[in-house]
Amino acid sequence: MLYLDNSATTKIHPEVLEAMMPYLQEEYGNPSSKFYSLAENAKKAVAIARQQVADLVGCDSDEVIFTSGATESNNMIIKGIADYYGREDQGNKNMLTSKAEHPSVIETFEFLGERGYEVTYMDVDQYARVDVEAIKKVADQNQPLLTSIMWGNNEIGSLNPIQELSQIFEENKLFFHTDATQVVGKVPINLKELKGIRFLSLSAHKMGGPKGIGAVIIRKQSKEIYTRLTPLLHGGGQENNYRSGTLAVHNIVGLGKAAERAAINLESNVQRLKELENYLTDIFKNNLKDKIKFNSDEKDKIPGLVSLQFIGVNNELLIKKLSDYTALSSGSACSSSKPSHVLNATGKSLEEVRQTIRITLSPELSKDSLEFFTRIK
Ligand code: PMP
Repeated sequence: MLYLDNSATTKIHPEVLEAMMPYLQEEYGNPSSKFYSLAENAKKAVAIARQQVADLVGCDSDEVIFTSGATESNNMIIKGIADYYGREDQGNKNMLTSKAEHPSVIETFEFLGERGYEVTYMDVDQYARVDVEAIKKVADQNQPLLTSIMWGNNEIGSLNPIQELSQIFEENKLFFHTDATQVVGKVPINLKELKGIRFLSLSAHKMGGPKGIGAVIIRKQSKEIYTRLTPLLHGGGQENNYRSGTLAVHNIVGLGKAAERAAINLESNVQRLKELENYLTDIFKNNLKDKIKFNSDEKDKIPGLVSLQFIGVNNELLIKKLSDYTALSSGSACSSSKPSHVLNATGKSLEEVRQTIRITLSPELSKDSLEFFTRIK
């Protein structure tokens, strides 16, 4: 099976699995227990993983909060900030996001919208990017409790102008969250330089780690002052009271190892992904010139993600036809009754949406394996 759906999930890397195994077997201690070695070993493993994640994104290790994945990270920040700073007795209920966010962001804002919050959903351009000046204007006017704009789009692959956004929110001191799930390990991230980003979500299974584990970075207000928010999960007070529940040590170790590998291999992976992507897009440009349209522009995009329209070809039929030997995506869970909100926000017609395919590569692929695309007529 030729797997070309690496934005949906990735294969767990053997080194990651190897690192996890002891914590599923002999090292089964609870890191919240005290004094005996099983607990201490688990605690040490969690501390190492926390540092590995911090090193990947350029923050302090006590700013890394483990969650069950990016869906939970996004929910935690959006609901947690809304609740903590937007309680009944406080006037401001404004929140800000875009029309091209992942459902775990959009639907969370919709949930809040039904509970009295005033959410502004910003338009995006044809590549699903936000307009920085428009965001600045609305933020200055509305003083939103939180603004959430994704770093890289999971369907089209466009990168948002994150540096400019960070700059705006550094200057106006309003809370800014970014969903970086699709960019970790694919673009350099240094939160010490991007001071306007107060919260960042990530997930292990998009970078060779296990499913069911992710993190949210919650930057401190200052060296000693932690940012406050209402937790999603109340209980034993783990994760600095942000997220209760016994830590999934094996998964955390897996996330840490995946983060370490992502940091070490960032440059070579990006180079390889770009090389494979150019090879693939050249095939399309040369062989199917008038039969395809690319949805993303070539610059400022996630390397290895190609979203394109096969003109006049139903995407689900094409995916099914090729499914015996390859795994492709229509770009999202795009059912015939509910087409992609992202492509819709970029101005595509329903017909164009239903002809869109997303191909997401991995650095391990060979050029030869992509050669079969030359036979598509
Ligand atoms: N945000 C983005 C941009 C994503 O692509 C995904 C995964 N499809 C998520 C959030 C959710 O991540 P998880 O599977 O870890 O909950």
